[in-house]
Amino acid sequence: MNYEILKHIKNSKIIVIKIGSNLLVNKNQSLNKNWLLSIAKDLKKLVDNKNKVIIVSSGAIALGKKILDKKILKNLHDKQAAASIGQIQLSQSWQTALSKVKLKSSQILLTAEDLENRRKYLNARNTIFALLDLGVIPIINENDTTSTEEIRFGDNDKLSAIIANAMSADMLVLLSDVNGLYTEDPKKNKNSEIILEINKITKSIEDYVSNSKSSYGSGGMLAKIEAAKICMRSGIKIIIANGLVKNPLKFINSKNSTWFVPEKNIRSRRQDWILNRSSKDGVIHIDEGASNALVKNSSLLAIGIKKVEGKFFRGDTISIKYNSKEMARGIINYDYKDVEAIKGQKSTQINSILGFIREDEVVHKDNLVLV
Ligand code: GLU
Repeated sequence: MNYEILKHIKNSKIIVIKIGSNLLVNKNQSLNKNWLLSIAKDLKKLVDNKNKVIIVSSGAIALGKKILDKKILKNLHDKQAAASIGQIQLSQSWQTALSKVKLKSSQILLTAEDLENRRKYLNARNTIFALLDLGVIPIINENDTTSTEEIRFGDNDKLSAIIANAMSADMLVLLSDVNGLYTEDPKKNKNSEIILEINKITKSIEDYVSNSKSSYGSGGMLAKIEAAKICMRSGIKIIIANGLVKNPLKFINSKNSTWFVPEKNIRSRRQDWILNRSSKDGVIHIDEGASNALVKNSSLLAIGIKKVEGKFFRGDTISIKYNSKEMARGIINYDYKDVEAIKGQKSTQINSILGFIREDEVVHKDNLVLV
């Protein structure tokens, strides 16, 4: 396949960029300010190009370690404490660098589990969309304080794939200190070559990466492969590239990175998740106009709703019926009482009827699956 990475990046409506600790923090554990400013300039170009950019940034533990003047952090709680200290500097550093190119940033701390919970998922997703619409760059990191599993280098790789999926992103860029995926562990075999394009993650690739005891394997390659799998299944383009250069996004090309080809005809994991959830929470009956709109991949608006059944709440999965037959399932943005009050009304009326508006759509098209 002939492709130019930068073109794919520029054509992505929503792009998630994950930045590893080793890029932000140098060997002396201090912040790479110049590097940060160089990527801020890259990001400014993307924003000017109307790309919506989400950053997943590691670095809290490394920065916290430096502030604490510690060489080693012994246990999980020490790492969590360091993350809590370093996160302040991490956020501030992003804010400073981005403000130099006239961009605004925000801080979001999330865990993968947060996104498994429907209500939290919906709130996180809608908040991130609101930030993107405001032209702000969300800077996300794993919420290390509440992470239940051992914090491992690489958690943010997986988290960034889950976020890319939750945000219906078009592309995920994993920037770290390796060029990409190799035919064998490059630390062990000098003849090992970078794989430029991957259509399928084979068992042999997985086996050698997971058995690799060198810094290549433990440096997060396994997590990167996990992230790639999530994205490939969901039709999201994903690339692993070396970010250890100034203006890393400008530098990536098809000869120095690994490109994972997304599966075609995919149904996203989110859609599977919506379909597989029981829809006993409630039923919404819609009219012909809304039914036609849904078939054409539009969102469900209040105006097309005729009747509401059952007690459901924002974030629940509901069943959507036309002529008493289920035609779709989706995650609802309003509680049942609110839907009852706004049914048949224009979206512009929601605020005056309810006294607040969550979203214009009762079910957003990205949270809706035709049955
Ligand atoms: N949340 C951790 C930090 O900010 C990093 C986890 C990771 O790199 O995957 O230091």
